[in-house]
Amino acid sequence: MFAQVVLPLSSYQSFTYQVPAHLQAVIKAGRFVSVPFRRRSVTGVVISLHSVSPFKGKIKDVAAVREDPAALPRDLWATLEWVSRYYMTPLGMVLKAALPLGFSQKPGLRQQTVVSITSAGRQALIDWSRRAPVQRAILTNLSDRTDAVPVASLTKVTAGASAVCRRLARQGWVTLDVQDREADPLVALPVSEHKHVTLGKEQEAALAAITKARKTGEFTPFLLQGVTGSGKTEVYLKAARDVLAEGRSVLVLVPEIALTPQVAQRFRAAFGRQVALWHSHLSTAEKAWTWRQLLKGRLSVVVGARSALFAPLPNLGLIIVDEEQEGSYKQEDPAPRYHARDVALVRGKFAKALVLLTSATPSVESYYNGLTGRFTNVELTQRFGGAAYPRVRLVDLNVERRRTGNYRLVLSEVLVEAIRARIERHEQVILLQNRRGFAPISGCNDCGYTATCPNCAVSLTYHKGPQTLICHYCSHTAPGPEACPECDSPHIYLHGVGTEQVEELLNQLFPAAAVVRMDADTTRRRGAHQRILQAFADGRYDILLGTQMIAKGLDFHNVTLVGVINGDTGLSLPDFRSGERTFQLVYQVCGRAGRHRDKPGEAIIQTNHPNDTAIKAAARLDSHRFYNQVLAERKELLYPPFSRLIRLLLQGQDSENVWRTAQELRSRLIPSPKGMTLLGPASAPFERLRGLWRVHLLLRSSRELDPGGQRLHRYALSRIPRTWHIRSQKGVRLKIDVDPVNLL
Ligand code: ADP
Ligand code: ZN
Ligand code: ZN
Repeated sequence: MFAQVVLPLSSYQSFTYQVPAHLQAVIKAGRFVSVPFRRRSVTGVVISLHSVSPFKGKIKDVAAVREDPAALPRDLWATLEWVSRYYMTPLGMVLKAALPLGFSQKPGLRQQTVVSITSAGRQALIDWSRRAPVQRAILTNLSDRTDAVPVASLTKVTAGASAVCRRLARQGWVTLDVQDREADPLVALPVSEHKHVTLGKEQEAALAAITKARKTGEFTPFLLQGVTGSGKTEVYLKAARDVLAEGRSVLVLVPEIALTPQVAQRFRAAFGRQVALWHSHLSTAEKAWTWRQLLKGRLSVVVGARSALFAPLPNLGLIIVDEEQEGSYKQEDPAPRYHARDVALVRGKFAKALVLLTSATPSVESYYNGLTGRFTNVELTQRFGGAAYPRVRLVDLNVERRRTGNYRLVLSEVLVEAIRARIERHEQVILLQNRRGFAPISGCNDCGYTATCPNCAVSLTYHKGPQTLICHYCSHTAPGPEACPECDSPHIYLHGVGTEQVEELLNQLFPAAAVVRMDADTTRRRGAHQRILQAFADGRYDILLGTQMIAKGLDFHNVTLVGVINGDTGLSLPDFRSGERTFQLVYQVCGRAGRHRDKPGEAIIQTNHPNDTAIKAAARLDSHRFYNQVLAERKELLYPPFSRLIRLLLQGQDSENVWRTAQELRSRLIPSPKGMTLLGPASAPFERLRGLWRVHLLLRSSRELDPGGQRLHRYALSRIPRTWHIRSQKGVRLKIDVDPVNLL
């Protein structure tokens, strides 16, 4: 018998091994095996078994079959193979990304010996006539318990507990067992109470539609669109309850690791210990424990970030993708560059599970799929409990600057007065400034020098705290600007506004108010994110100021004002999705105000572009109108969802080489067939990052002629040599990004 084995290598090859007789009964497709490879022992996954060898060379033996309790679920296998094909990445690399623990030789699982008393032991205790008080004490201790006890815990009884237990075992009075030590990441969280809710009318209708579709047993994707606070989570909790009652399992994806504990807690309150947490920041022991419990079928709900999509949950019945529009669902590097929302739909199809995407502001693609009937739409239009949506005001910064003669205006009078009123009434304020640091641009007034990164074609951001210039792409640092490094002039200017600067201004304007800043710089430490939000929820701060990370998260009942310092940040980025992102962010953050019926909210958006489609629609809280306009634009320009894209990004240290390779790639791809277009090569918007020059090409096919994108794929695969996928060509590396989210 021969096994084809995939190894975690950047190679499209699989390898043939002979299966020795003693392993033939246990080996199966989907199981982890240890095999010799280049004089090392490597873990791989069996993809198929054969009676004749497909390989003619010298063949080595499989060394061992790993004793993981079970093979991976079939739908997961099919999904992983699909990811490998669709995202043009070797299966070994997909497995490495998806099953990080599957491949580690030592999964980091801590084990412990447990002991339990036998019936002979109980009898011995009754008839006890010997000396040996220590043995007696231990038996007595064990006789009170029904389940096995870690031997280590018996050191309370006696110091040499493990030697005593071994002696008792030889007598047949106790049994010893080795068990996985519990490392459940959810144990550390406080258990919140599950409230029994009766769904409202809209919620009930949404659930009924979902249940009806589920009963057909067919694969059905749903888009649950509802403003924040409309009770979407309560709806999917109920749907999950039904699915679990049928003995099937549930996967819940949330966009950010920081948000997973909150959602997991709500699930744990409802469903108890069958709920697991999964994300990339778990410790190895926690991951190993969860992984084993999953394969043993002991857990039936997994809540996690992007990679939780590949949790080996058997018998999947429901996949929820919360806030499906979030960019964090897209894996950028390393390959596979998959989109967890799209792959969730694929896994759902293989598992015949219901897939439920939820959002207040869906991605344009999903909205379009809802319109055209690929997804079933359900909508919640009301906030739960009758809270009204906030009143939104737009402030035109151009007008304000002219009126006040202050051309460096950061906070308009309207916004300042609104903040002042809240502080006086002891209500809270959330302010969004989606840029960290003090000022994003600095330079010399005398010689024209600007501070740019030596490795990247971007300016350095001035951070006032540490008095340094920092590159937000490669983390290069330089001393803060006291004098010009070119001409020694002391006339340094700072341009643009970051969170640090807003914080300083707020402290000057409102010396009595407590301001807390939340951005990547203040949330480096583990748990910092959670601590800041909790302190704000407890009322220890009046103003929460931050980057986009404040747009999501907790419900703050006392927040009655949301201010957007500059709604245009990000709007000018040369990416066709920048308007969509701006709309989503501004709309979301406005939704943080006035979550309580008796405290109506207000939002103030400052902007330089009051007539921009995205800004205007967000200010009107009118999502349908926004999507209709954007769809019209995308249709005209043939952008997704009206086309499919593959981005080919070339990177290398030598600019000339990169361009030459790009031209060569182009010549392989033209003339492109009907319905397909090749754009570029062109410099990427960030033409140099981390010391590498960047040139890209876009391959596009129209949805009309290529609805599933198969033609585009086949074409790219036939024209780009496989070796280009996995190895650099003369120092130039090709990155293939299928359905790119980011074109910068
Ligand atoms: P969303 O996920 O849409 O932001 P949630 O499901 O978190 O909304 O609901 C917002 C708040 O309203 C939560 O505190 C939730 O418990 C509460 N809620 C929602 N629906 C109900 C209901 N039918 N009965 C009681 N409370 C509800
Ligand atoms: Zn100068
Ligand atoms: Zn840099």
